[in-house]
Amino acid sequence: MTEDCLFCKIVSGEIPSYRVYEDEAVYAFLDINPASEGHTLVAPKKHFNSFTDLGAEDIAALFEAAKKVTLALEKAFSANGMNIGVNNGEVAGQEVPHVHVHVIPRKKGDGGRGIKSIVWTEPDTANLEGMAEKIRKAF
Ligand code: 5GP
Ligand code: ZN
Repeated sequence: MTEDCLFCKIVSGEIPSYRVYEDEAVYAFLDINPASEGHTLVAPKKHFNSFTDLGAEDIAALFEAAKKVTLALEKAFSANGMNIGVNNGEVAGQEVPHVHVHVIPRKKGDGGRGIKSIVWTEPDTANLEGMAEKIRKAF
């Protein structure tokens, strides 16, 4: 629990939420301003600012729960698909600095688009091998 963290307060029950799923490590609840019907946030109960702060077990628990939530949302809303994603860092749109996975049900004809509609900076594609090499060297 980190003081003054909105989602820590939601996990602890200090701030009310519409809970949809909970286990030892994870708490899932409705987004208060949903992008579509059923839009759910899946958060670790422990506070982590960034996705890269999570250990292997934390990641496994978080994404196991996200999978369960995805299956429940498909069933509950007869969804045809799902966007499952993390805004990591302020520049990437993260407003609440407590890691969470958005699970957003999608329906045929809903007018929404895919993950590349978030950003499109038209990077140079002439040297994809150079790009890949730069990343490989960073591991
Ligand atoms: P982020 O931009 O950090 O990835 O997503 C934060 C999400 O939290 C937003 O989609 C926003 O609608 C949601 N949110 C913000 N405040 C609250 C709140 O008090 N309760 C709930 N349930 N969701 C919230
Ligand atoms: Zn927190």
